[in-house]
Amino acid sequence: MNSADTTLTTCERRTDPAGAPSRPARAVLTLDELCAALDLSAAGAEMYDLIARLYPICRSITGNGFRDTLNQVREHVPLEVHEVPTGTDVFDWTVPREWNIRDAWVKNAAGEKVIDFRKSNLHVVNYSVPVRRKMQLHELRQHLHTLPDRPEWIPYRTSYYKETWGFCLAHNDLMQLADGEYEVCIDSDLKPGSLTYGEYYLPGKRGEEVLLSCHACHPSLCNDNLSGVALVTQLAKLLSGAALQYSYRFLFIPVTIGSITWLARNEATTAGIQHGLVAACVGDRGKFHYKRSRRGDAEIDRAAVHVLRRHPDGFEALDFSPYGYDERQYCSPGFNLAVGSLTRTPHSCFPQYHTSADDLTFVRPEALAGSLGAYLAILRVLENNARYVNLNPKCEPQLGKRGLYRAMGGLPDAGKLELAMLWVLNLSDGSHSLLDIAERSGSDFDALRRAADLLVQNHLLRPCPRATISNEKE
Ligand code: ZN
Repeated sequence: MNSADTTLTTCERRTDPAGAPSRPARAVLTLDELCAALDLSAAGAEMYDLIARLYPICRSITGNGFRDTLNQVREHVPLEVHEVPTGTDVFDWTVPREWNIRDAWVKNAAGEKVIDFRKSNLHVVNYSVPVRRKMQLHELRQHLHTLPDRPEWIPYRTSYYKETWGFCLAHNDLMQLADGEYEVCIDSDLKPGSLTYGEYYLPGKRGEEVLLSCHACHPSLCNDNLSGVALVTQLAKLLSGAALQYSYRFLFIPVTIGSITWLARNEATTAGIQHGLVAACVGDRGKFHYKRSRRGDAEIDRAAVHVLRRHPDGFEALDFSPYGYDERQYCSPGFNLAVGSLTRTPHSCFPQYHTSADDLTFVRPEALAGSLGAYLAILRVLENNARYVNLNPKCEPQLGKRGLYRAMGGLPDAGKLELAMLWVLNLSDGSHSLLDIAERSGSDFDALRRAADLLVQNHLLRPCPRATISNEKE
C-alpha cells in the first residue's frame, strides 16, 4: 500500500485537536538573536521538569502510555497526533497490535505482593500478554529477569514481536523468593488498535526541512528516551518563536516501527529533508558523541563536528553504523537521508542503560541545558551557512579606507575577526560556503559569519542566492 492510500483509507488524522495550544505567532527574532536571549539554565530546569512528569507513565510502542506522553508534550507544542491502525503494512513490517496494561503483580502463598507493577512499571516485560495463574517458583523463574551483576537494579525487557509474558526484578529480591506456590497476574491486553505518533511541522522561509526525531516509547527510563523527548520539545517550543530559514519537522515516535511507519506514510516528504538529527541520551553528564549520517560528509555531519570540536564538554565523532536508534531507518539505502545522531553517552555504553538506574537522579538539568545549547549551535550553523561572491576579487580590497578596521577596533576579538574577513574575501568565489571556509581556515563559524555581514554592509561581498524550495508567499 502506498503512503497516499494509507492516508486516505486507514488513518485517522487529528489536526490541532481541542486543548492543543494554537501555533504561536511568528516573531521577528532570528535564531541567533533568540539564542543570545535564551536563559539556558532555565531551559534545562524546564526540560528536567517535563522528564519528571513523564517518568511515571508506562509507555510502549503502542497504547495509552504513548498517547498520555504526547498529551503532555502538547501542553508545550501543538503536535498533530496520528493514529495508524494495527495491520497497516509499512514496507516490510506491519503495524502491531496495541498493548495496554492496567496492573500486574506476583503474590506469594501468604497473599503478599512480592513483585508489584505499581511500584515500578519496569517490573513487567513490556508487551507481556495477559496471564492469571498459580505456579511453583521453578516455573515462575523461567519468566523472571534480573541483572546478577547489578543486583539492586531492575532490568528493562520487551517482548514486542514474540507472544510471551514476564517480570523483571532486582536480583537481590529474586534471592528472597522462597520455594512454594505463587499467583501471577498481568492485567494487560494486546488487541487491534493503532500505533500513535506525534508530528509538528514548523514552516520557515525555505521549503527544505530539518528533521528532529526522538523515540518516546520507553517506560520509566530517563536518559534513554525521556531526555530526547524533553530536548526535542524544548527545541520545537523555542524555534516556534524564531524567524527561520529552514522549515522544521519534529517527530515523537516509537523506536524503529515508528520511523518505519512515518517513512512509509511520508515517502514524498523525505525529498525535502536536507538535514536531520536523532536526539536521545542527552541528559547524562558524559561528553558528546556525534554519530555521522550514512553519507558521512553531509552538511549536518560537518556542522555538528565543527560545533562540537569547540565545545568545552569535549566530544567524539562516530562513523555511521546500522545499529542504534531511528537513524538506522532514515539512513537505510532507499532513503539515505542526511540524518545523524547527537547523544552524550551513547546507548548501551552507560551501565544504567535499560535499567531502573536510568532514573531521575541519572539525568541532570545542567546536562540537558548543555545538550540544548549544542543542538542550537548546530542549527545556527545550518541556518547561517551561505555562499558569497567577493565583489573586489583582484587583490585584497583596502579595508582601512572603508572604515572596517575601525568597525572591528572596539571588539575584543578584532584580530580574529580581521583574519576571518581575509579568509571570507579570499574564498568567496561563489563555490565555498562559510562552513567550507571554517573547515579550511580553522576559524570559528560565528567569526566568519560576522565578517561576512560586515563585508556585505560595505559592498565587498554579495550573498549567492540559495537554490531553494521557497515557502515565501509572492
Ligand atoms: Zn532503549
